[in-house]
Amino acid sequence: MRKNIVAGNWKMNNDLSETEELLGHLKMQMVKEPEAEVMVAPAFTNLYTAFRVLKDTPVIVAAQNMHEAESGAFTGEVSAKMLKSIGINTVILGHSERRAHFHETNEILAKKVNAAMEQEMRVIFCFGEELEDRKSEKHFDLVAKQLKESLYQISEENWKNIVLAYEPVWAIGTGETASPEQAQEMHAFIRKNIAEAFNDEIAENVSILYGGSVKPANAKEIFAKEDVDGGLIGGASLKALDFIEIVNSF
Ligand code: 13P
Repeated sequence: MRKNIVAGNWKMNNDLSETEELLGHLKMQMVKEPEAEVMVAPAFTNLYTAFRVLKDTPVIVAAQNMHEAESGAFTGEVSAKMLKSIGINTVILGHSERRAHFHETNEILAKKVNAAMEQEMRVIFCFGEELEDRKSEKHFDLVAKQLKESLYQISEENWKNIVLAYEPVWAIGTGETASPEQAQEMHAFIRKNIAEAFNDEIAENVSILYGGSVKPANAKEIFAKEDVDGGLIGGASLKALDFIEIVNSF
């Protein structure tokens, strides 16, 4: 059975004291056993603090990125092994901001996914079309290509460590959300695509999150869709009460 998951991607927000404050609020105010699995992804500098603060809670701490190599001359980069050494076993890969600003291609992302699988890390794999792709009705092809080129090389066994996050680029940080129907349509397509490339069991068991301007006001309606198993939340995850309300939207 697939899980409901709500993950907060903090992006490049919150210094150390702001991180401690937000985590403190989450810890105090979140119900002890939420309906969904909850994750937060602070910046690299705050991961260890987050891990320690949340240690005795069900909240999982994830990184926002990692490098595909185990170690070496890659100034400024962080490896899966380094993350694991501070208790971080989950990583977001393929976010559209990494693709757009840091030139991460499907090919590079395949290497990152493989590196994470080798270290038995859990990956929240992000993908989604830009507005032009949707306007020209290429969004399904584009998404199928992103999945095939970065993810479909993994073994059947490794799917247990994959969470998918469909994030249409035109809905990220814009206030414009995909309609629940648009999200459902794409999520059903993704599940079918996985079933064809692998099998029905894998397709049924993988959690597919929606991301893009999810807020307390629209979360319930989006999460109610059959193939939407939760959300990857940007802006609204920076406010404890909003994030908790989204977590409680199942
Ligand atoms: P917003 O929720 O701010 O639109 O961001 C979504 C996102 O990019 C999560 O990874």
